[in-house]
Amino acid sequence: MFDPSSFRDPALAHKLIRGIDKHAAGIARQRGEKYIVHIMEVCGTHTMAIAKNGIRDIMPANIKLTSGPGCPVCVTANRDIDMAIEFAKHPEVIVTTFGDMLKVPGSYSSLNEEKGNGGDVRVVYSPLDALAIAQQNPDRLVVFISVGFETTTPIIAATIKRARDMKLENFAVYAANKTVPNALRAIADDPDIQIDALILPGHVSTIIGLDPYKFLATKFHIPGVITGFEPLDVLQGIYMLLKQIDASDTYIDIAYTRGVQAEGNPTAVKTIYEVFEETDAEWRGLGVIPGTGLAIKAEFAQYDALKRIELDPPAPREIKGCQCGDVLRGALPPYECRLFGKTCTPEHPIGPCMVSSEGSCAAYYRYTDYGRSK
Ligand code: SF4
Ligand code: SF4
Repeated sequence: MFDPSSFRDPALAHKLIRGIDKHAAGIARQRGEKYIVHIMEVCGTHTMAIAKNGIRDIMPANIKLTSGPGCPVCVTANRDIDMAIEFAKHPEVIVTTFGDMLKVPGSYSSLNEEKGNGGDVRVVYSPLDALAIAQQNPDRLVVFISVGFETTTPIIAATIKRARDMKLENFAVYAANKTVPNALRAIADDPDIQIDALILPGHVSTIIGLDPYKFLATKFHIPGVITGFEPLDVLQGIYMLLKQIDASDTYIDIAYTRGVQAEGNPTAVKTIYEVFEETDAEWRGLGVIPGTGLAIKAEFAQYDALKRIELDPPAPREIKGCQCGDVLRGALPPYECRLFGKTCTPEHPIGPCMVSSEGSCAAYYRYTDYGRSK
């Protein structure tokens, strides 16, 4: 049986830390003491694991861990949040979504505020719960606000197929789902961001496997390792990345072999593309990235909320002073945002990176001295 304590074994952790130190020293000998190796963790849960377990603090001086755009809630653009809010204002609509979305500020309001104003906004734990709400409320349209990466998209696609099988007519999805690999291409291509290696997301990779990341190594010469979420997983991932850099090798590898197969889960990928097709998507901080969005295909149009109700939201605007965009690009550490820990805290979040349970600002605030010293 799976024993989580085996992934927190101090002896193994010390062994990995010694390996990390050894390769960091090897890299310093080759590239000079001043060369800083920038490792970006892509996934929000890695950001949390790193902050919670103090992994950043035990890194050698020439290794820097930077958080990337790994939280699906944080990267959702204001325009999409504003659309969700417009649905919540509509008297015919029941809005359903995951809990993290409620507090996220849009340009002018949040789903929580709309709920306070009388909007029917309900938190669900699965999109299938939204189907049940639709069955119980045949006179209303139930709109599921869908954000997420490849991890959650198969279940959204399966829910849409199920709604069709059930001939359920009052259910629709506002799809703001995104796919990860091309967002990494945009980061790798950004001359303002220095990335030497990537800790790749565990759950996303369970679905897509290893191949979609290969371009990072072949085109951009950036090594990547798919890791799990226990402290030892993260240390092992960092160790494997530094080993590659020290040996001047560059490839994509899997440390999280108990969760990820190289080929991913082709059945889940097939389910996604039965219902969705690729489109461009706007990411907070990264702008519009071609081919990273998922639009509902024409044959499922009746489950596309945008085709069911016409909305005209006001032009989006950015939140004054919030630097979530720079944080998500890995261009600014959260504590350097002028609002961090002052006007922006988990109790009173100004931007999504402080709201979300996987947000970088929330991780730094909760688990690091930057948060405690405020
Ligand atoms: S869904 Fe999984 S892989 Fe994606 S950001 Fe969240 S924890 Fe990471
Ligand atoms: S501290 Fe708050 S305002 Fe600043 S980037 Fe983070 S979430 Fe945005």
